[in-house]
Amino acid sequence: MKIILAKDAGYCFGVRDAVNSAYDTSKEYGEVYMLGDIVHNESVVEDLEKNGVKVVSNLNQVPDDKPVLFRAHGTAKEVWKDAEKNKMNIIDATCPLVHEIHKEVKQLDKEGRKIIIIGDHGHDEVIGIASQVQDAIIISTVEEAEKLKKTKKAGIVSQSTQTIENVQDIINILMTKVFDLRFVNTICFPTKRNQEQIKELSEIVDLMIIIGSFTSANSKRLTQLSLERNKNTYQVTNATEIDVSWFKKNINSVGISAGASTPDWIIDSVVKKVKDVTNTTDKETIYE
Ligand code: SF4
Repeated sequence: MKIILAKDAGYCFGVRDAVNSAYDTSKEYGEVYMLGDIVHNESVVEDLEKNGVKVVSNLNQVPDDKPVLFRAHGTAKEVWKDAEKNKMNIIDATCPLVHEIHKEVKQLDKEGRKIIIIGDHGHDEVIGIASQVQDAIIISTVEEAEKLKKTKKAGIVSQSTQTIENVQDIINILMTKVFDLRFVNTICFPTKRNQEQIKELSEIVDLMIIIGSFTSANSKRLTQLSLERNKNTYQVTNATEIDVSWFKKNINSVGISAGASTPDWIIDSVVKKVKDVTNTTDKETIYE
């Protein structure tokens, strides 16, 4: 069996840096607190917990002498203000590319534009972007875009992990609704690379495996991109979910990629399991 692993499968640099920062900070202070999980991955969260990285739901639950870590996908402005007002020890693990989106959205707001964010409702990154300005509109689907009232002047950004396809479809509708529209493409480059590799790889292999949590909209989007090109696409959260019956006759090559919340060791264990069930001894190829 030919096994091809996408080069940018798994952690993006923003998530990797944030996870490392959580381990390092906890080592230094004994414990570190976060408002919510750092990644959509139970195994990672469990391991962090064992190493003193605690998840709380509000700032009041953080002990006075312990730091609070703000996660890769950003934190709402009000929460920042509260933490600063209470002179908390803030460890900022916000990805620089998310800080960039906050800057862009504030600039569009300064230009007097109605702010529209293309992203998932309730996602922490989207909440953080929306909090930078007053009354931002969040649109996640074409159907929602169709319901938008006509607007004279709008500025649009997207959540960093959206697919280009979804953003394009929504922008096409918004073009008919907004007279003066400025769109800043804030899909981040690691996301673009990951999506491109999945689209290309899924077209050249017989079977595709996407590793990612079913609770992550980002992972589901990656699976969808692959499914549209290869009906033999399966999403798994870890190696135990690999089913030997997938590797039937006429399956001679397998492509593997993963969402940005998947750590390297889970990717490695999936590759190993695929090798085991297909009796493959050759080293996997890396797809760039
Ligand atoms: S997905 Fe992109 S914006 Fe988000 S943390 Fe990763 S690199 Fe940064």
